[in-house]
Amino acid sequence: MTAFGAFTRAAVAVFAFVAMVAAIFAGSNYTTRFYLADIAERGQSTLRLSVAGLDGVLSRFDYLPGLVAEDPSTRRALTEAGQTGIVQKANSDLRTIADEAGVAELFLLDRDGIVVAASNSGEPDSLVARSLGYKPFFARALEGAIGRYFALDPRSGSRGYYIAAPVQSADGIVGVVAARVDLDPIESAWTSPVDEILVLDRNGIVFMASQSDWLFRSLKPLTETARTAIAGTRQFAGREIDTLNAETFVRGGIPLIAVEDGKKVTEFLIQDMAIPDTDMTVSVLSRTDSARNQAFIFTIIASLLTLIAVMFLVFLWQRRARLLERLMLQREAHDVLERRVAARTASLNEANARLISEIAERRATEAELRKTQEDLIQAGKLAALGQMSTALSHEFNQPLAAIRSYADNADILLERERYQEARDNVGRISSLTDRMAEISKHLRTFARKPDEKTEAVSTGAVVRDTLDLLNSKISASGVDISVSVPEPDICVQAGHVRLQQVLVNLVSNAIDAMRDIPDPVVSIGVDRAGNAGEVTISVRDRGPGIADDAAAQVFDPFFTTKEVGEGLGLGLSISYNIVKDFGGSLRACNHADGGAVFTVTLQEAVPTGQSHDDAEILNATRVAAE
Ligand code: ADP
Repeated sequence: MTAFGAFTRAAVAVFAFVAMVAAIFAGSNYTTRFYLADIAERGQSTLRLSVAGLDGVLSRFDYLPGLVAEDPSTRRALTEAGQTGIVQKANSDLRTIADEAGVAELFLLDRDGIVVAASNSGEPDSLVARSLGYKPFFARALEGAIGRYFALDPRSGSRGYYIAAPVQSADGIVGVVAARVDLDPIESAWTSPVDEILVLDRNGIVFMASQSDWLFRSLKPLTETARTAIAGTRQFAGREIDTLNAETFVRGGIPLIAVEDGKKVTEFLIQDMAIPDTDMTVSVLSRTDSARNQAFIFTIIASLLTLIAVMFLVFLWQRRARLLERLMLQREAHDVLERRVAARTASLNEANARLISEIAERRATEAELRKTQEDLIQAGKLAALGQMSTALSHEFNQPLAAIRSYADNADILLERERYQEARDNVGRISSLTDRMAEISKHLRTFARKPDEKTEAVSTGAVVRDTLDLLNSKISASGVDISVSVPEPDICVQAGHVRLQQVLVNLVSNAIDAMRDIPDPVVSIGVDRAGNAGEVTISVRDRGPGIADDAAAQVFDPFFTTKEVGEGLGLGLSISYNIVKDFGGSLRACNHADGGAVFTVTLQEAVPTGQSHDDAEILNATRVAAE
């Protein structure tokens, strides 16, 4: 997870939170206004009904004072008050009319404002003889107009609506007729649970109210002038008018009033309407808390729904982001894999190319080697052939030249009839041809099959047979033979006759090497070699040893240091090949105490019995030994 991702998510969360708070605030205001408009509409209808009701009640009695004023008996009660029975009749008439019309009080005032007759004359709280000239309705009526006035009646404590009309005579206005309508019953009908209904006078004093606590209290502080006027008219029966703890204000175009009642502040939406033909105003105060509650609940629900929607969107966005991130990681991993594969493939291709070039190089080297080998073999063959040709031509040319010479001599001797000498020459020719036949026989041994079978051959028997074969030569040379053969006998893997041929060659050479040596001794030893399973047969003489320059060539065919006619140079070469055919080796070295040592190394074998095969090789061996 990247730091950037976490930062983005935190920023989005903060943004969402701020947006939600703002949305709640704005939504709350908006929905409050919506619900307030609803409340205002309801309040307006309450207001219209209240005003219509009040107006209906008040205007119902508008006609009454004027009508009473026009009655001649009313006028007479003013103008002829001194006459007996006139005032009594007026009192009686007023009572009758008041009862029939349904007004609380009906009374007649003279021009000085003194009540001369009243519907309740004779009763304890009757207004008769009281002066009401200070009442505004009186002054108005004296001006010839309809006087209207609202005031608290100090006697009954009830709110009254006063209507006054002038009593006209030929001399002008002689008095005033006034009616008082009791307003208390109207107020008791205001029982709205949500709206408060107020009737305010021109000074903003609550004259009627659905809530009695607010009665005779002003919404705004009264001016001193207003206070003096109120005191003068005793409108509120001398009650002290205190100010309601209220504050009017406008919010969002909606007029509001906050009223503190004790510790609690209640907010209302306020709507006013004047009562026609009066200086009174009806106000309807509608509680706003229900609107606020509704708006709050609506906003909370809307906000929660919005929050859920936002969370869902954020969830989708995060899921998408995670998916994209995973895809990106997968793509990266894929790219890395591809790069690795490409790198590996490249190194493999490189290694492959290297291998191919190495193989090609090796093949070329091998081919070159083979060619070199073939060339060498060819050269070796040619060299061997050349050597052989030289030796053979030497070996054959000498006897042939001798034969030619002997033949020519024999011819001459026969011509001269020297037959005995001629016979000698022929005899020499014969012996020379024998020698050539011997060479030929030796050469034939090279043509033997190399894969003739080997068997377990007794070393003791081979040494014994070899010495038997060379008996005459040993005797003639006077060589002492020392044999050291272990008991019990050791067998080696070889061919009896061929191994005997090898030993005959070696012993014969040893005897030849000690021709000029006094007390010549040939030592023959059979022993188990250092390497397990190997047996050595050594032939040691006390001669001059092998010359340094001859050491490398002693096993070459036709290499000989002997006089012509004494050696063919084939013995060691044949022996070497025979031992090699047995799987063994033939080595030559000089002994530390002088003389040459030829060692045949062969594999030891389990004895099985002797076979006497290869008569031809045996014969050849004998010939070589002689
Ligand atoms: P040849 O005996 O006909 O010469 P060989 O192959 O048997 O042929 O021997 C080759 C040569 O090896 C000899 O001419 C001689 O020079 C050398 N040689 C062989 N045996 C001995 C030996 N015991 N001491 C010294 N030289 C030897």
